[in-house]
Amino acid sequence: MNTDCLFCKILAGEIPANRVYEDEFCIAFPDINPQAPTHLLVIPKEHIASQAKAVADHKSLLGHLMAATANLARSQKLEKGYRVVINTGDDGGQTVQHLHLHLLGGRHMKWPPG
Ligand code: AMP
Ligand code: ZN
Repeated sequence: MNTDCLFCKILAGEIPANRVYEDEFCIAFPDINPQAPTHLLVIPKEHIASQAKAVADHKSLLGHLMAATANLARSQKLEKGYRVVINTGDDGGQTVQHLHLHLLGGRHMKWPPG
């Protein structure tokens, strides 16, 4: 746990979030500022500051997050498709320094993203 980290505080229960999914390695909860009809965040229980800090030791955890996100999308009935986003660093638009996957769905997405 990183005591300065917003998502670590959510994991610790210090900041409330509706855990729509939880397992041994990750949780998912709604984004407080949704950008699509479905907008969930999937975060590892381990504090990893960013995708830019991911290394080979994280391989199974990163795969787990992708698989959990796919399961979540199925449970959210996003059969028409969806987008998974990992904003990374300043240029990537990352505002919370704890690795997270955005699961966005329920509307048609544009490309390229802004
Ligand atoms: P990013 O900009 O990719 O780092 O994403 C961080 C996301 O966290 C943003 O989409 C915020 O809306 C979201 N967020 C910030 N605080 C909270 C919170 N307390 N509960 C849920 N989502 C949050
Ligand atoms: Zn954290």
